[in-house]
Amino acid sequence: MPTFVHTEKCDGCKGGDVTVCMYICPHDLMALDTERMKAYNQEPDQCWECMSCVKACPQQAIEVRSYADFVPMGGAVIPLRTDEAIMWTIKFRDGELKRFKFPVRTTPVGSIDPYGGKPEAGDINSQLLFTEVGQDMPTIS
Ligand code: SF4
Ligand code: SF4
Repeated sequence: MPTFVHTEKCDGCKGGDVTVCMYICPHDLMALDTERMKAYNQEPDQCWECMSCVKACPQQAIEVRSYADFVPMGGAVIPLRTDEAIMWTIKFRDGELKRFKFPVRTTPVGSIDPYGGKPEAGDINSQLLFTEVGQDMPTIS
């Protein structure tokens, strides 16, 4: 079930060339109606509900119409992301709300060293995995 945009919340990312939802969608599904400055999912059939755009939208304007076994009709699953944590608001169809907050990182923003402590990249033709240093495996030539 695809995403949809709450147009009253969407501000078109204030007129940037590429909106946050366009930038983040791994399937290039989000588009901007430049007349109205509102985003929309241009190919809903192709949306795999990865929630990336939902989590990234700075206006909380995008929602996934989830499968009924996960979110029954009338319910909603809404994330609010900050640099440190993500807060999930679960709205049940009887109106009950529950919130769950999870940290999203263990290091200060901008400080991570993704290759810290890892071996140097080796022969690109080697069939060893990145961390399998020193093992004897054939190479492709
Ligand atoms: S990221 Fe949110 S506010 Fe920005 S264009 Fe997309 S839906 Fe609108
Ligand atoms: S949920 Fe994922 S696949 Fe669907 S529009 Fe958003 S980013 Fe793209």
